[in-house]
Amino acid sequence: MALVELERAGILKFVISQNVDCLHLRSGIPRQKLAELHGNSFRELCPSCGEEYVRDFEIETIGMKVTSRRCSNSDCGAKLRDTVLDWEDALPPKEMNLAEKHCRTADIVLCLGTSLQITPACNLPLKSIIGGGKIVIVNLQVIAGVMQLLDFRIPPYIRIDLVQLILRHVPKSKVKKESFTFGKNNVLQELMDVANKESQCGQHAIIERKVLPRSEITIDAIVTNLVKYNNAENTKPVEAIPIANTNGIKRCSASTKGTRTSRKRSKLA
Ligand SMILES: [Zn+2]
Repeated sequence: MALVELERAGILKFVISQNVDCLHLRSGIPRQKLAELHGNSFRELCPSCGEEYVRDFEIETIGMKVTSRRCSNSDCGAKLRDTVLDWEDALPPKEMNLAEKHCRTADIVLCLGTSLQITPACNLPLKSIIGGGKIVIVNLQVIAGVMQLLDFRIPPYIRIDLVQLILRHVPKSKVKKESFTFGKNNVLQELMDVANKESQCGQHAIIERKVLPRSEITIDAIVTNLVKYNNAENTKPVEAIPIANTNGIKRCSASTKGTRTSRKRSKLA
C-alpha cells in the first residue's frame, strides 16, 4: 500500500513484480504501470484481441494453457488462456519491454524483497545505472552479503506468532493434561533462546489447550527468527530483538522441542 501512495503522489512511476498472486493489481497499482513478469494466477488473456480479464477466483491452469472461458468481446469470442509462466516459458515480451524501458529511465530503482537471483529479471535494475540512476536494495539475503563483506553481524530478528488450531474429532485420551506445568513466560523465553542460539526457524510450543466435545483447541506459539543460515559464526548467541504478543494466554506447555510449523494456521483474534 505504500507503493500505491507513492504512485498516487507521482513519485512511483512503475512496478515490476515477479509475484503471481495479484497483490499489486488488487492494491491499486494501475495495470498500465505494472509489469507482471511471471504472470498473474487471477488474470486471463485473450490471445486474439489482447483483452485481459482479472477474476475473483484463481485460474485453474498454468503455463498459458486454454481455460474453460471465452473472450466476451462480441467480435472475438476466442478461447482465453491463463497468464502464469511454467518453468520453461520465456518472460512475456510485452511486460519485459515495459520493465526494461522504465528501468533505463528511472532515477532510482527500489528492489524490494527479491534475492535478485533469477535472470533475466535480476539484471533489470542494472539498466538504471547505465542511464545514470541508482539502485536501493531492501532485502535480507542481499544485505546479509553486504554485512559479511563489512564484517558486521546481523542480530537475529525474533518474532512470536500466536495461532489457534482447531482439531475436530480428537479423542480426549490423546491430550496430556500433565504437560501444562510451566509458566508461559518460561516457555516463550526458552523458544526464543533456542531460536537465538541455533539459528532455526519455526520453534514451536503449545501454550494453551482446551478439549471440547469432539474437538481440541490449542493456542500455539511459533517463534521465527531471521538470520544467516549455515554459518557457524551465527550459531553463537547474540542480543536478540524480541517481538512478542502474549496477551490472553493463561496456561502453558512444558513441551518446547522445535518442530516444523504448519502452513494451515489462523491468527489468534
Ligand atoms: Zn478477444
